[in-house]
Amino acid sequence: METVLPGKNRMTDPHRPRTGVVTDGRYLDHTMGGFHVESPERLEAIYAMIEQEITFPLDHITPRPASREEILFVHTEEHFTILQQTAGREYIMLDPDTSTCAKSFDTALLAAGGAIEAADAVMLGDIESAFALIRPPGHHSEAARAMGFCLFNNIAVAAEHLLRVRGCRKILIVDWDLHHGNGTQHSFEHRPDVLYFSTHQFPHYPGTGRWSEKGQGEGKGFTLNVPLSPGKDDRDYRAVFRHILRPVCLAYEPDIILVSAGFDIHVNDPLGGMRVTDAGFGALARELMDMAEQTCGGKLLFVLEGGYNLIGQSRGVRHVLQQLAGEAMNPDIPADISPLLEQELQPGFRTIRENWDI
Ligand SMILES: [Zn+2]
Repeated sequence: METVLPGKNRMTDPHRPRTGVVTDGRYLDHTMGGFHVESPERLEAIYAMIEQEITFPLDHITPRPASREEILFVHTEEHFTILQQTAGREYIMLDPDTSTCAKSFDTALLAAGGAIEAADAVMLGDIESAFALIRPPGHHSEAARAMGFCLFNNIAVAAEHLLRVRGCRKILIVDWDLHHGNGTQHSFEHRPDVLYFSTHQFPHYPGTGRWSEKGQGEGKGFTLNVPLSPGKDDRDYRAVFRHILRPVCLAYEPDIILVSAGFDIHVNDPLGGMRVTDAGFGALARELMDMAEQTCGGKLLFVLEGGYNLIGQSRGVRHVLQQLAGEAMNPDIPADISPLLEQELQPGFRTIRENWDI
């Protein structure tokens, strides 16, 4: 891991939290065609923002390709082999909205490996927090299939690595992407060692994520879905995090918090109907930092998922990084539940209270 100091020669303040980013030009190699919204330009815009606008120090985490063995923590051999066979071939359609190019397999391995390296940097104490700015995204990818722009499930692979290799006992995955992370939920819904919490627009792609999906068998209660109708803003999201996620997190006491950070809940996103502003992402990061500080020494890893308005996504990432690095005030956004949200959450509160004291 090398330290990069963007901007002027600013000394590192030893009292400020250290945060790292995974960035790599090879993540631009994967393309699903010129007009696809999940484009290399997404990361180009974020990397340009870091170069031009971030004036505080960030640690740079160098990614590596995940090994076959690491991918098989989550995925079937058949799925790995199918993706491997796309390598070097121009265009293979895997799903109505998901395809590969000659470099997609290598890029997908590098995405999963980037999430693993970032998880290690945080877990082994080099840095307090990190943001894996990687693509393709991962949370729709199921054990045996690619879907929804996702090839391998990066965050699920990183979580398995932390459990199997780093001795973690309990991991909280928070998924604020516009879409439900069906692949992540299905990877862990039978187990209590990964608690999956998702907010998502509903009904919407991929169709899963009802209140009633709350885990199975030993995993009952360790999947928490908060389906939301469109139009939710900064205050609504902060209220859900403060009044539902926070008490669950404090009771669960994870060893680390992983975040599927999708910026398609941004008010200007072309695919979504949510109304989160640039500062709203900072507020959500702040909520998660507070939870992490109270439960796991502040260990927090963000992994990029969706986000299709290039400007909104870059600004959202900037606000998250500013919070993580201690470079911004806590955004002045209330966390109270509006009467309208209260009404919508009622059935959910009843479901969650079967397992958690909220
Ligand atoms: Zn999404």
